[in-house]
Amino acid sequence: MIILSFDHLSKRYGQTTALDDVSFDVPNGEIFGLLGPNGAGKSTLIRILMDIIRADSGEVRVFGESRRRDHLDRLGYLPEERGLYTKQTVIDVMMYFGSLKGLDRADARRRALEWLEKLELPQVATWKIDRLSKGMGQKVQIASVLLSDPELCVLDEPTTGLDPVNVRLVQDLLIERRSHGRTTILSTHHMNQVETLCDRVALINKGRLMVYGEVDEVRRRYSLPEVFVRAHGPLPPVPQVASATESEAGTWRLRLADGAPPADVLTALVSRGAVIDRFEPALAPMEDIFLRVVGEAHV
Ligand code: ADP
Repeated sequence: MIILSFDHLSKRYGQTTALDDVSFDVPNGEIFGLLGPNGAGKSTLIRILMDIIRADSGEVRVFGESRRRDHLDRLGYLPEERGLYTKQTVIDVMMYFGSLKGLDRADARRRALEWLEKLELPQVATWKIDRLSKGMGQKVQIASVLLSDPELCVLDEPTTGLDPVNVRLVQDLLIERRSHGRTTILSTHHMNQVETLCDRVALINKGRLMVYGEVDEVRRRYSLPEVFVRAHGPLPPVPQVASATESEAGTWRLRLADGAPPADVLTALVSRGAVIDRFEPALAPMEDIFLRVVGEAHV
């Protein structure tokens, strides 16, 4: 099921084309990576979804309907610009965010405390916001967005500036959201995070959709025909392998002959007596794909 569709969205600011006929779908229950270099049009797309600005043309559909204002109660948004009302206490700010999404006071309070616990910040509930460190403030802001348990939420660089322990904590919360069928759009420049966390990606450059698909499928699409093999003893020559490079003792990178399916190579090697304990098609790193797609578009 599709929870969100962008349908032929275009947006110009004066002479600048921020979005140029962008269409793609976000399936329900996924962690979806929204990628692109600075100025690509990601924020413009998100702001249109959140009804902060209007598209010149095209349509946004959420929850199977043309996007209406009252859908916003079911959406969450962590903008790139951080900032909370500094003179208020953490619990008051969090309860305010909850009330914006229709929670009553008691429910908002209960959830705020629960979320502070989840983010390992139970002690800060009564603190004024300006006493929080930058990282703590960021976690409070993330918690403020997630506490209403939005069906669809957009997080713009949620882990930037956090230490590795807190990065892991936030990632685990997103995985937990996914296990409950919630959908998260993650705008990020951290390509490792995309590989480990995201089910699917859309890569935008200069207002255009350049790459879309499941992460593994996209990585396969941009990969060279290579496999990594770890074996005991020598690797017998087989016609499906064009060349083999031993990177360290017992570990090879094999370039496959044109059109040879990796499964056939494995079968051929094993039938000629190879003892293999790892066989893995080499997937292109997301970072290489990003650089290639964005770099080619600069030419
Ligand atoms: P991203 O979020 O991917 O960095 P943006 O959506 O912010 O990209 O920007 C896309 C393009 O639109 C950029 O060229 C940017 O300079 C331009 N742009 C964004 N907002 C405005 C605005 N309010 N006025 C004029 N130009 C804008």
